[in-house]
Amino acid sequence: MLPDLERLIALQRIDSTAADARRRLAEEPERERVFEARIETLRLKVTAAKEQLADNQRVRRGVEKDVAVHQGRLSKFREQLMSVKTNVEYQAMQKEIEFAQREVKALEDQILERMLEADDLTAAAKRAELELASEQKAVEAERRLQSTEHDELKQSLERVSQERADLVTALDPKMLVLFDLVSKRRNGVAVAEARDGICTICHVRLRPQVFNTVRRNEEIVQCDSCNRILYFTPAAPASAEAAAQPAP
Ligand SMILES: [Zn+2]
Repeated sequence: MLPDLERLIALQRIDSTAADARRRLAEEPERERVFEARIETLRLKVTAAKEQLADNQRVRRGVEKDVAVHQGRLSKFREQLMSVKTNVEYQAMQKEIEFAQREVKALEDQILERMLEADDLTAAAKRAELELASEQKAVEAERRLQSTEHDELKQSLERVSQERADLVTALDPKMLVLFDLVSKRRNGVAVAEARDGICTICHVRLRPQVFNTVRRNEEIVQCDSCNRILYFTPAAPASAEAAAQPAP
């Protein structure tokens, strides 16, 4: 293969690796926002569950106060019952007592309902807290992975930048100008493989004469359609392919 063509292929591989790494690094703030949102959703769930429980307790304390008021009235009535003079007065007082007793009973039922509800709400709050703790753990683990990936990407960028500098030094400057020009116009991809007579990136069929030249990998040939620098990968020998197959 023409040495400069080999260098151009390597240059493209380096530029694509670097572009992927930079894209991945650029996505980091968005991934962090997603992490934050995942935790925030569950944090809000915990807050809501605790507020419901607090509401339940506030309502229950209110009902308990009402019970105390009615019980106060009841004991007053019972005292008064001792000092009534007539049967009519006695019956009227009995009615008051029965009414107050019914009120107390109804309020006590309400308290019981609130207590049962409080059990459910306490369990729900506990579940929400566990869910939050588990999500925080999961996010921390993912953040650690991301931090490792960040370091690897930075190292990879440094490494390929050195490799690129070495390649560029060895490359014919005219080839570098061509590469940079096509790369700029073609979204960072200046080199394309030609396979089965087709440019694998723009998918346009090459003229047979052009494809034959590309197959030899001895000249710099550009795709007529996308202008990318073309190269050809010879098929691996059938025996080597068969040897690469895993045993059945
Ligand atoms: Zn093309």
